[in-house]
Amino acid sequence: MTRSVLVINCGSSSIKYALITHPNQPRTARMEGLAEQLGSAQARIKGRDAQGQPFEHPIAHADHTQALQAILTRLESLTPDAIGHRVVHGGEQFTTAVQLTPAVRQAIVDTSALAPLHNPANLLGIDATLQVFADLPQVAVFDTAFHQTLAPHAYRYALPDALYTEHGIRRYGFHGTSHAYVSARANTLTGSTDQGWLSAHLGNGCSTCAIWQGQSVDTSMGLTPLEGVVMGTRSGDIDPSLHAHLHRTLGWSLDQIDQMLNKQSGLLGLSGLSNDMRTLTEAARSGHAGATLAIAVFCYRLAKSLAALSCGLPRFDGLIFTGGIGENAADIRAQTLALLPHFGLQLDPSRNLATTRSAEGRIDTGRGPQIWVIPTDEEGRIAAETRHLIFA
Ligand code: ADP
Repeated sequence: MTRSVLVINCGSSSIKYALITHPNQPRTARMEGLAEQLGSAQARIKGRDAQGQPFEHPIAHADHTQALQAILTRLESLTPDAIGHRVVHGGEQFTTAVQLTPAVRQAIVDTSALAPLHNPANLLGIDATLQVFADLPQVAVFDTAFHQTLAPHAYRYALPDALYTEHGIRRYGFHGTSHAYVSARANTLTGSTDQGWLSAHLGNGCSTCAIWQGQSVDTSMGLTPLEGVVMGTRSGDIDPSLHAHLHRTLGWSLDQIDQMLNKQSGLLGLSGLSNDMRTLTEAARSGHAGATLAIAVFCYRLAKSLAALSCGLPRFDGLIFTGGIGENAADIRAQTLALLPHFGLQLDPSRNLATTRSAEGRIDTGRGPQIWVIPTDEEGRIAAETRHLIFA
């Protein structure tokens, strides 16, 4: 019997949802949508109904619970058998998905200090769902869990020991659901789990991961999702003395600096134009200097991160691109790979250009390590983990 899973990804003012009725259901056949701008007069719900038709309705001033009720109405007669929640930070406690209990909920609350922007928002969704779907089993799937296989030499910062042992300051990594999904998919496509992959998840948030025989061995994000490569509005790696410097010379507060690094930096900060790669690639083609620089820094830092993470792999078999940029931006893939000639990666230019619009495909010449474009499916993976935990 196939069981349907409602996947919930809750932000502070939005709820993304997808109803996944069976394991191999194509993404295009899912009922899915987004309730956004919650709490404001502009709050609305939009998505695709059971017939695949797009819809959009105002739900003015709806809170998370009211938005979930609106989502439930949109599911028409299809009632889920279980709920799977995306939870950003599981700390060291959660190495796999777990069924939600009061103790698990409390542990997510306790981990909020490590993810103040994300875990409280995820909890809003969990609490609203517990009210609206009180009788359904609910599962928390953590973005950090896949990276709990990192060894201490990969996850420890070179800081005083007590900061780790007493305060949990270490590298955790994020986007685990996506890196787990695309590397497992690459293993399926190649028919072997004995593989060393580097994966690049390039969306609004971006991260890289090294995966050896199905396990994460290193990743670019750290204690928070700010560490690592250049992202839409996040800086990625910077000199850790920057905070002290800006405070001493400009009098900036920690909150101002944190806001600048998370919201005003990355592609947006460098280009002075946009955080959106599509806008930047078009602007760069028409000669916009800021867009050209932002793309150059993005690709260089990405190549550098991939080269660095290769140290975690006993053998390098191939590279996987995913996320909105990784799946669609052929020129960004080409510009990044051009910086890694010593890895023997040989891009097939025509296959690269042909693999856009979130199609799956291999884009190398067949003479060096493999290069794959694999559309991510975090919702599908969350549904699979939920199904496995509750119904297997
Ligand atoms: P999120 O992390 O919010 O899920 P996505 O994975 O959808 O985001 O990725 C969004 C990014 O993908 C944006 O920077 C967007 O411009 C970029 N993108 C989508 N399509 C293209 C394209 N055809 N060319 C270049 N960038 C693209």
